[in-house]
Amino acid sequence: MATIDSKYNLSTSQNPQFPAQVTGMYVLAQTLKRLGIDTVYGLIGIPVTEAAYAMQDVGVRFVSFRFEQQAGMAAATHGFLTKQPGVLLTVSSLGFMNGLTATANATVNCYPMIQISGASNPEMVDMNVGMYEQLDQFNTAKPLVKAVFRCSHATDIPSALARAYRASVSGRPGGVYVDMSEVALAEVIDASEAEKLYYTPIDVYSAVAPNPDSVKKAVEVLTSAKRPAILIGKGAAYAQVEDKIKQLVETYKIPYLPMSMAKGVLPDNGDLSAISCRSDIMEKSDVVMILGGRLNWMLSFGKGAWNPEMKFIQVDVEPQEIDINVPITAPVVGDLGLALDAILTEMEGKTMSTDPQWLADLASETKVKNAKFAERLTSAATLSPMNHWSALSVVKPILEANPDVILVNEGANTLDDTRDAVDMFLPRHRVDCATWAIMGMGMGSAIGAAVATGKKVVAIEGDSAFGFSGMDFSTITRFQLPVTVVIFNNGGIYNHLGVNPSTDPEVKKDPAPTTLDYDRYDLFGEVFNANHAYVTTTDELKTALETAIASGKPNIINVQLAPDAGKESGHIGYLNPTPLIDYTV
Ligand code: ADP
Ligand code: MG
Repeated sequence: MATIDSKYNLSTSQNPQFPAQVTGMYVLAQTLKRLGIDTVYGLIGIPVTEAAYAMQDVGVRFVSFRFEQQAGMAAATHGFLTKQPGVLLTVSSLGFMNGLTATANATVNCYPMIQISGASNPEMVDMNVGMYEQLDQFNTAKPLVKAVFRCSHATDIPSALARAYRASVSGRPGGVYVDMSEVALAEVIDASEAEKLYYTPIDVYSAVAPNPDSVKKAVEVLTSAKRPAILIGKGAAYAQVEDKIKQLVETYKIPYLPMSMAKGVLPDNGDLSAISCRSDIMEKSDVVMILGGRLNWMLSFGKGAWNPEMKFIQVDVEPQEIDINVPITAPVVGDLGLALDAILTEMEGKTMSTDPQWLADLASETKVKNAKFAERLTSAATLSPMNHWSALSVVKPILEANPDVILVNEGANTLDDTRDAVDMFLPRHRVDCATWAIMGMGMGSAIGAAVATGKKVVAIEGDSAFGFSGMDFSTITRFQLPVTVVIFNNGGIYNHLGVNPSTDPEVKKDPAPTTLDYDRYDLFGEVFNANHAYVTTTDELKTALETAIASGKPNIINVQLAPDAGKESGHIGYLNPTPLIDYTV
C-alpha cells in the first residue's frame, strides 16, 4: 500500500524480509564495509537515518555531528591523514549543501573524500513537482568536486561507491559526490542479488610513474644549482613520502622550506631547515624543487619577490598544475613516491654544485631569526593581560614537548602566529585552514584527526574561528575524544575594539563588524560536561594545557587575551590596504 504515485514507482512501505532481502541502505552500509571504510561522519535525518543504523550494524563507525559542514571537515581531514577517502553522509537539500561546502574545500585542498547524500527522487526533481527537499543535487555538486555519481537503484550502489573511492584517491585526490536517491535507498532487493554486486576494486590507488626523461632533466637542473632549495607542500605530507625526501635532503645537503601543513614532513628545527628563511629562498635561490605544492597566492604566484631567473622543478601528480603562473623549467608529472624513487636513483653517483656559502648564509640567517623570535616570545611572556605571543610562549614549549599531538589551527592572528611559533617534528601533525584560508574547520578537523588516528589533538582556535564550529565541541564530548580546544579569546575578528565609524547615532549603536563576544567559551565545558579552564595568565595557561593534554579527555580552555591584542591580518596587502579610518583600534 501507500504508493505515492505509481508513475514514479515510489513505494513507502516496502519492508524487506531480512536476511533474504535487503534495502539499498543496507547495500550502502555493506559496500562501505567491504571497501574497507571503517568510519562515516555525518548527520542523519530523512532519507538516510536507517543507512546510519545499517552502518553501525555492519561495523562501520558512525560519528554523528551537529552540523554537516563540520562532519565534512572531519571526513576531509580523515582523508588527508590516512590517504583513504573520508566519508560524509548527509540528508537532502540543506544538509547536502552544508556538507558540500566541506567537499568543495576538500577538492580544492586535494584531500580525498566522498560525500554521500540522500536525495529526492530525481525523476520528480526533474519534473519540478515540489518534492520534499527538492534540489538537483547532482548538478549542484558537479562543478565543485572531482566526480559525481548518481544511484537511481539499489543495484547501482556497489559500483558507484567503488568508483567514487577510486576517483577520490587517484591522480590528484579530491572530493567526490554520490547522489543517493531515496528510491535507491528504500529499494528492496534479494540479498543474493546484492551479494553478486559487491566487489573489491583492484589497485584502487594506482601510482603513476613519471617519464624518465623528465626525471633526468630535473636532476640535471637540481645538480647544477648553486643555491638550491626544496619546497615541501602538503601534497608531500599527504603522499607519505617523508623518508624519501629526508634521503634527498640529507644525502645532497639541500635546504628545505615547508608550506604550512607540510611542517613536520622533515623537522622544522633540522640542520637543513630553511623555515625561517622564506624570503631568502624566494629572492636568492636559483633552483627550487617543489614537491607536492602549488605556486598559488600563498607563494605570490611564483612572481614578484621571487628571483626572476629562478628555475623551478615541480613534482606533481597533476599535469595541469604545471606552468600555471610561471613556466616550469623541469616538470616531473607523477606520483611523488615513484617520482622521488626515480630522482634518487638518477642522482646516484652525481654531485651537487651548491655554493657552500649558501648553506652557511641560511644557517646564520636562521640563527638570527630564531633569536629574534625567541626574544619576541620571552618579552611577551610577562605581559598582563596576555596577547597572542604571551599565550604562545606557553603553548610552544608544551606542544613541542608533545610532538605526537596533532595540532589543528585556525583564526587570523591565531593562525599566523601559531604557525610561526610552534615547530613541528612529525609529518601530518598540523591541520589548518589551508588553500582557501577559510575559517570554520576547527571542531570538524579536530574530530576527524582524533578519530582517524586515535591520537591526541590540540586545536588552537581564534575566538571568531571557534564560533563557526563551536557547537560541534559537543561531538568531541559525546564521543569522548582526546581533544583539547584552546581558544585565544580577544573578543573579535582581529580584536574586540573595532570602531563602528558611522556618525548616525542609530547605526552607531551596533557593534563594529569585527567586534564579537569577549565571553567565557570555557563554559561550553560546563554545558557539555568536559574539563574546562578560564585562564588569564601564562602560569594558569601552562597548568591548564599540561593537565588537559595529559588527561586524554575532552577539554576546553578559554585564554583571555587583551581586547586590543591582534591586528587586521595583513598577508594579502592589496585586499586589506591601510584604511582611511583606523577601524581596528
Ligand atoms: P601547499 O598548500 O602546501 O602548497 P597544495 O595543496 O597547494 O599544497 O598542493 C598540493 C599538491 O600536491 C597538488 O598540486 C597535488 O596535485 C599534489 N599531490 C597530491 N598528492 C600527490 C601525490 N601522491 N603525488 C604527487 N603530487 C601529489
Ligand atoms: Mg579573535
